[in-house]
Amino acid sequence: MRGLVLAGPETIEYRPDLPDPEVETPADALVSVRLAGVCGSDLHPYHGREPVAWGIVPGHEAAGEVVEVGVDVGRFSPGDRVFLPFTTSCDVCPPCRAGLSSRCDRGRLFGWGPPGAGAGEGLGGTQAELVRVPLADTTLLLLPEDLGFEDGVLLGDNFATGYFCAARGGEFEGRLVAIVGCGAVGLSALVAARYFGAGRIVCVDPVPARREAASRLGADIVVAPEAAPAAIAALPRPDDRGAFAVLEAVGSQPARRLALVLAAPGATISSVGVATDDFGFSPADLYDRNLTFRSGRCPVRSLMPGIFEALACGDLRIPTSELVSAAPVSLENGPGVYRSFAARSGPGLKPLLAP
Ligand SMILES: [Zn+2]
Ligand SMILES: [Zn+2]
Repeated sequence: MRGLVLAGPETIEYRPDLPDPEVETPADALVSVRLAGVCGSDLHPYHGREPVAWGIVPGHEAAGEVVEVGVDVGRFSPGDRVFLPFTTSCDVCPPCRAGLSSRCDRGRLFGWGPPGAGAGEGLGGTQAELVRVPLADTTLLLLPEDLGFEDGVLLGDNFATGYFCAARGGEFEGRLVAIVGCGAVGLSALVAARYFGAGRIVCVDPVPARREAASRLGADIVVAPEAAPAAIAALPRPDDRGAFAVLEAVGSQPARRLALVLAAPGATISSVGVATDDFGFSPADLYDRNLTFRSGRCPVRSLMPGIFEALACGDLRIPTSELVSAAPVSLENGPGVYRSFAARSGPGLKPLLAP
């Protein structure tokens, strides 16, 4: 098959002749990838910040069609339109039963293998023509008929993660919510925060185009990071003591430190960016202002029934056209997509690859 591999630090290569993945266990399905996302999380192994097996097909976001299933797969058949959460899940272990499908005892991350291992020992990613999906019945999700493959890619990670970030910010009840980072996850958190009853929403990002997108999606105040504390202080009381909830959707130390600055006494900081560096503050910083800090990887599979319900009744919508504003790019041009995404110089917020 054709696909990308992460050959080494900052080295994405296009390969026209990768081995096709196969159904390896009776619970596997093979999915023909129609669209794959390139995600901010992909940049951690790309830059060498997160160890990974070199040579693996990267990527953990995809929507496509089932092409083959193992004999134990009962819920899916060839031809089904599906999307995949970025981790596999079993639905029966204690974390799965507790709603934490992203911490399943048998969970594996697509596009990741242990550092030092051969590419074959990890679970191949989605930035290729085909992806093998273990535990298919309890991992894959059918794409609702009224949604496109773009929506499916977003549902499998960025949109669900933004929803999760907002859901963990507390009961907003009309109070001030600040969002740090207006990439695909932060803008999804903005839409979800509105759904969950936020009052004023302040969106913070250094990139003007992202702030403009936040404005179009209904942010009340959009501001660059250095101006954010003053913008909140200029609000009428009682909001001037800070945000009731801060949704942190970047995953860097400066973003977490800014979240701390923007939080009101007693606030919740809900952090979903992948943390690969030092946190930048201590538990004492939280104690001194009675803050609650919540973090973690989004349990996409566990959250999806609630998201489907909210989408179906029209109370929540995926801001697909804001997140995916550029046409999908061929796999052959994948290496260039990574370079421009890493430099934040590409068109649109969210690059998609179309095998
Ligand atoms: Zn992702
Ligand atoms: Zn499980």
